[in-house]
Amino acid sequence: MKSDFPMGVAIGGARAATGPDRRGSVAPVPLVDLRANYASIKHEINEAIQRVLDSTAFILGEEVVAFEQEFAAYCDCRHAVAVASGTDALQLALESVGVKAGDEVITVSHTFVATAVAVTRVGATPIFVDVDPTTYTIDVDQIERRITPRTSAIVPVHLYGQPADMEPILDIASRHGLKVVEDACQAHGARYKGRRVGSLGDAAAFSFYPGKNLGAYGDGGAITTNNSDFHDRAALLRNYGQRRKYEHELKGYNSRLDSLQAAVLRVKLRRLDDWNNLRASLARIYNDELRDSAATTPVARVDRTHVYHLYVVRVAERDHVLNVLQSRGIGAGIHYPTPVHRLSAYAEYRDLRLPVSEKVASEALSLPLFPELQAAQARQVVRSLMEAIQS
Ligand SMILES: *Cc1c(COP(=O)(O)O)cnc(C)c1O
Repeated sequence: MKSDFPMGVAIGGARAATGPDRRGSVAPVPLVDLRANYASIKHEINEAIQRVLDSTAFILGEEVVAFEQEFAAYCDCRHAVAVASGTDALQLALESVGVKAGDEVITVSHTFVATAVAVTRVGATPIFVDVDPTTYTIDVDQIERRITPRTSAIVPVHLYGQPADMEPILDIASRHGLKVVEDACQAHGARYKGRRVGSLGDAAAFSFYPGKNLGAYGDGGAITTNNSDFHDRAALLRNYGQRRKYEHELKGYNSRLDSLQAAVLRVKLRRLDDWNNLRASLARIYNDELRDSAATTPVARVDRTHVYHLYVVRVAERDHVLNVLQSRGIGAGIHYPTPVHRLSAYAEYRDLRLPVSEKVASEALSLPLFPELQAAQARQVVRSLMEAIQS
């Protein structure tokens, strides 16, 4: 299953894992099963959608305001601004904290491309540093030597659902007068030293792409911040820069979350902690079952709560292992096969060397993980993985 979706996430449930070349007798296990998730909340979702249809308040309006309040509270944050996607959330967060054309922004290359795209879209230059080889989040020891007079911000990515090491990052930022924008697009609900992601930096960006831990039924995103000036600017920017109709204070965009998505997200937000707990207990099963295997399992640091957006192991001969798994109907995936500095869209970085990012990209393998996955299915994935490694 080579997915065309931007995240490489298999959307559409069981169908995703049943390729034409599937062999063996085991039942297929998809990477993500959105159909099972919808089935578990169908009644409430349908009611919420009907409510919006009856109100005909499709843009902004009550549902969006309520979702913003509920999501901000969930993140232990004062403000949230709901926007059209996670990429837009990152871009608007960067603009809101004052990142501008010509600036440099320090971030990672081992991430989904949108992290870099958002920096590029404000006219700034991403400065890629390597990741820590155990957590796959930004290597904090590499940040300071890349700071120049043009650096204005750091964008740590809470990759796969585990927060980056925020304390040293915030310390470096305050010593150098830099802003910190968290890319929390994979980490809804994760905690660092007890505090929710989204409340740690100057601002944060979340994605509600359907396959994320909190996913809409279309595109969506949010900016969270405790700073009322940044909040004000983000709220203006996503709605043509207008405070009141036809009073445009900023050159803004059209990047609003629509009310149907807000209504869906309000239903799902109430389940998010339960779903994250289910993800964590499935991750424990994988950890236990893979303890003595040749696969390197993820390291969850004790000072952080990992919400397992993805369960990523590292294996030698990864492409072979992936092929074998997929041929047996196991919807494994790769996040991400190519670090951003190796993508043709970012060819200007072709001479940059980031050894850890490059190695992780060649060995990373995402196993099926979603709240509705059964323990027996997880064990079956492990058996297939062991066989694939030995084949
Ligand atoms: C999903 C994601 C984004 C972008 O979100 P979209 O809603 O797809 O625009 C950005 N950064 C990371 C790390 C992501 O996983």
